[in-house]
Amino acid sequence: MKLSDLQFDNRFSSELPADSTTENRPRQVTQAAYSWVAPKPFESPELLAFSTEVAELVGIDADEAPEELARLFSGKALLPGMQPYAMCYGGHQFGNWAGQLGDGRAINLGEVINDRGEYWALQLKGAGPTPYSRTADGFAVLRSSIREFLCSEAMFHLGVPTTRALSLVTTGEQVMRDMFYDGRPGLEAGAVVCRVAPSFIRFGQFQLPASRQDYTLLKQFADFTLVNHFPHLMAAGSEPGAEHYAAMFAEVCQLTAKMVVQWERVGFVHGVMNTDNMSILGLTIDYGPYGWLDNYDPDWTPNTTDAGNRRYRFGNQAEIAHWNLYQLANALYPLIDDADPLEAGIASYRREVNELRQRTMASKLGLTTQDDSDGELVTELLALLAIVETDMTLFYRNLGGLKVGSLCDPQIPDEQLLEPLADCYYVLDQLDGPYVERMAAWLRRYGKRLQKEGSDDAARQQRMNRVNPRYVLRNYLAQLAIDKAEAGDYSVLHELFELIKRPYDEQPEFEKYAGKRPDWARERAGCSMLSCSS
Ligand code: AMP
Ligand code: MG
Repeated sequence: MKLSDLQFDNRFSSELPADSTTENRPRQVTQAAYSWVAPKPFESPELLAFSTEVAELVGIDADEAPEELARLFSGKALLPGMQPYAMCYGGHQFGNWAGQLGDGRAINLGEVINDRGEYWALQLKGAGPTPYSRTADGFAVLRSSIREFLCSEAMFHLGVPTTRALSLVTTGEQVMRDMFYDGRPGLEAGAVVCRVAPSFIRFGQFQLPASRQDYTLLKQFADFTLVNHFPHLMAAGSEPGAEHYAAMFAEVCQLTAKMVVQWERVGFVHGVMNTDNMSILGLTIDYGPYGWLDNYDPDWTPNTTDAGNRRYRFGNQAEIAHWNLYQLANALYPLIDDADPLEAGIASYRREVNELRQRTMASKLGLTTQDDSDGELVTELLALLAIVETDMTLFYRNLGGLKVGSLCDPQIPDEQLLEPLADCYYVLDQLDGPYVERMAAWLRRYGKRLQKEGSDDAARQQRMNRVNPRYVLRNYLAQLAIDKAEAGDYSVLHELFELIKRPYDEQPEFEKYAGKRPDWARERAGCSMLSCSS
């Protein structure tokens, strides 16, 4: 469809109350779900990357002129039907109630209905200040925009629920950032990502009116979300009531469980699981100081702001999602006036996480049946992966190539049994006698388990290769793209954008991107440590 023919139906802004003032300066906004705000018209926006797939979802032709796309998706020009606004929400940051936060640098353009009748909300990140910018500038820098653009699409192709990214545009303007929070700010290139999702509603959107005891707005919000995003929970013609809110909460619990266990499957660490960064649809949202596990370490967090408590470390994400769901339950409580259904939702979250974890680990190991001993098999494996630095992605992928015959052959010495895994290890010196013995024992036990279910080597490897990716957006890979892009060379950005579209396929032309983290990246900023400065 031609850009000018896109159909907009801006449900969020037409059905929910607007801020009565349009003054664009930081302030508290009450009794309103959003504020009208215009994006900043940047001097010379330039299109760096564009997702033709996301364009297709929205209904945009792939052959639109890049100049026009850059103008539109930086916010410099608007299409008929676009009505830009910033959403008002609150949230808990690092466990503390932070009050009003809101879209400080996100500006929504509206909701497109495509020719399949689907709604897709478009949102610019980094398009200028809003009433929610607080003390910040409303802009985003190139490095963090590259990370958001690539990672949204990488997650989608891995099969993880996520917001999508349509475009990456540089603004032609510079932004001041203190990247290391060490009092040495510098100028960086500004950029805008256009994000796309069925909805950008967050837990914090329910929390803020609840905290202000604005139950009118809270109910408007819950009704809007139910009717537009959980319509299957409502019988035709019925009015939203307590049972519907409870059912919606239970479904949010399920969706959140699915998201978090998918993160565990691929080794993703969100980094800032504040309640304002939790999507009501269970989508991964707000790619900031996220990271990917290279060596499997459940205690790892990429976020330097969180280095002390490691609240958002890899192995704690399911717990934190649980905590966040509790905050959402508290916010919805005034609409339901009964804790039992909310408690039931929370309990269902726990069950769902446990079940999904079990199934996910079974599929990562290529198992098709269940056995009482599987729990121990998995626990021992996860312990082994953490005691010596073992690359998570390579380990599971290599595991798929093992043969039951060899694993069950007592003649094969321990060292030889581990050989196919050799390239997963970061520090060969760590592979001492006790480790080799323990890992070999695990492999033999795994072999017996496979034998017991009559596992076929080739079929199992095929199955495992669809669950255990060959390529993930390793922290150092995104940094390589950034280093080049900051020097005006976008080749790595484009290569990685191709690579991440087929993460489960062998891509010989991109073999260089499959290897484990190189040594130079071990302690480098952007690779192993990221700040919230973006
Ligand atoms: P985060 O946890 O990084 O998603 O952001 C927390 C809050 O800070 C959100 O309300 C953001 O909109 C806001 N924020 C982050 N960076 C900026 C920025 N550069 N300008 C304005 N607001 C920002
Ligand atoms: Mg956020």
